[in-house]
Amino acid sequence: MSFDIFNLDPLLLRAVKDAGYETPTPIQQRAIPLVMQGRDLLGAAQTGTGKTAAFALPLLHKLQEQQSAPRGPRAPRALVLVPTRELAAQVAEQFRALGAHLAQRGVLIFGGVSPKPQLDALRQGVDIVIATPGRLLDHLQARAVDLSGIKFLVLDEADRMLDMGFIRPIRRLIAALPKDRQSLLFSATFSTEIRELARGL
Ligand code: AMP
Repeated sequence: MSFDIFNLDPLLLRAVKDAGYETPTPIQQRAIPLVMQGRDLLGAAQTGTGKTAAFALPLLHKLQEQQSAPRGPRAPRALVLVPTRELAAQVAEQFRALGAHLAQRGVLIFGGVSPKPQLDALRQGVDIVIATPGRLLDHLQARAVDLSGIKFLVLDEADRMLDMGFIRPIRRLIAALPKDRQSLLFSATFSTEIRELARGL
């Protein structure tokens, strides 16, 4: 099986080739067609399975399809919530590599560093926000980020986010999103709490 079967933008297939991916992993084989169809998704996947590309590829495709060459200030359309700054950096790196031939812009938001560069990027306009929940909620409460245009939400490593006590900021962020959106939740385990969160989405 090759990546050609997913009907992804040729510019994405070029980046897949640049990355040296030849065969989609099992989670990619299952998830990419569903996300392309616009379905919500509950994914059971751990790090190392290729789950990041399983959501990054179809999301980049859809962002590009909606607006192939976005210019100037704009509100973000995709939000990826992750538990830690390390994971945020890894996810951002994959979006950067796979989106290398597209014009979609992203910002990485996490705590423990000066908010200034994050605020500057948000002001200049981004398409994709990759964030840890606490710092993003700070920006939302300061009205520094507009989440009213979010069409795609990803909760990555949702079980870890709940273990780290992020349920309240996550719920507050979700409450600020439009109801008309596609939601993807990835988790290694499916506790009652995760199922409840998923049901709420
Ligand atoms: P992840 O599970 O998303 O953290 O990905 C684990 C690693 O696998 C990352 O370094 C990816 O670049 C790589 N990867 C993702 N998809 C593929 C693929 N289809 N073929 C080879 N490597 C991949």
